Amino acid sequence: NRQILLKARPKDRPGPEHFELAETPLPEIGKNEVLVRHRFLSLDPYMRGRMDDSASYAAPVPLGGVMEGECVGEVVESRHPGFAPGDWVGGARGWQLYSAAPGHTVQKLPAVEGVPPSAYLGVLGMPGTTAWVGVTEIGQPKPGETFVVAAASGAVGGIAGQIARRMGCRVIGIAGGAEKCRYVTEELGFDACLDHRGDLGRQLDEACPNGIDVYFENVGGAVLQAVFPRMRDFGRIAFCGMVADYNVRPLPPGPSLASVVRKRLRLQGFIVTDHPRAWPSWREHGAAWVRDGSLRWKEDMAEGLENAPAAFTGLLEGKNFGKLVVKL
Ligand code: NDP
Repeated sequence: NRQILLKARPKDRPGPEHFELAETPLPEIGKNEVLVRHRFLSLDPYMRGRMDDSASYAAPVPLGGVMEGECVGEVVESRHPGFAPGDWVGGARGWQLYSAAPGHTVQKLPAVEGVPPSAYLGVLGMPGTTAWVGVTEIGQPKPGETFVVAAASGAVGGIAGQIARRMGCRVIGIAGGAEKCRYVTEELGFDACLDHRGDLGRQLDEACPNGIDVYFENVGGAVLQAVFPRMRDFGRIAFCGMVADYNVRPLPPGPSLASVVRKRLRLQGFIVTDHPRAWPSWREHGAAWVRDGSLRWKEDMAEGLENAPAAFTGLLEGKNFGKLVVKL
């Protein structure tokens, strides 16, 4: 077998010194296992995270361990009743030529005309599914809305934009360089594609004169900085990835938005006056709890209208203790 191992953890950009090529004996398969000859290995941005040992949603690759990654390949030996040599399967793992896998961890690839096996690593695999979830469940675009997607020529972004277009949106891609932008508009059919190497803010103003309803975030950094102030009221951002930050150490000052992805945080702004039904509902619940003493509350009572300005100034400096009210 040939394997790529993680030799050292990179501080910022990974280089050849962090990987090691190893020749090892072929794995032996046990009962209900299959031996898979990997034919295609998926390389994805998340792998950069697996090279670090900081806390994340998935365990790091151990030093000396085989690099993590999904493969499709052919079964060459089977001790599982559901598989025979020659079957194409997905779900095999690791940067390596062969792996032994329990039968329940691999899936036969459906033989569909026009769908090559490698498609199950991309458009019909994890990245395509990511686009589907991010658009339909998180971004939830409506017909006529303006949908912007970063890394638009890539595995996730290219599919996300096409899904949004099918949902009736005006879709604007962001990509690096004229060739990728041309591909995004001419081949993928996006309404426009902006080059983030140029003045992205100006291009966004021209392409989205009324602002952005849904942003599918794949990149972070300067791209997010340009998009963010152009979001419309009640816009939605699907935080899918922040690839621009993956090699940057130390992280720039300010809250690290990468943890929005990592911790699946939900950030949503709101204004109470948009929620008319909440007022009577809260008054009913709250009043009962005030009456029975189970809800505690405190007033800070100032005296006299003439003291309102000073009380108010104090409020902004933390001088109040409890709900500030003026007794007139
Ligand atoms: P891509 O095929 O889109 O490749 C990455 C692209 O990111 C590059 O081609 C480049 O495109 C862009 N990019 C890289 N560095 C920078 C930078 N510094 N500034 C601007 N753009 C940059 O990768 P994927 O489609 O596989 O992944 C896209 C994103 O989705 C990643 O952030 C990834 O982590 C995330 N992801 C999240 C998942 C989830 O479950 N949340 C699952 C899968 C992916 P260009 O040249 O156009 O700028």
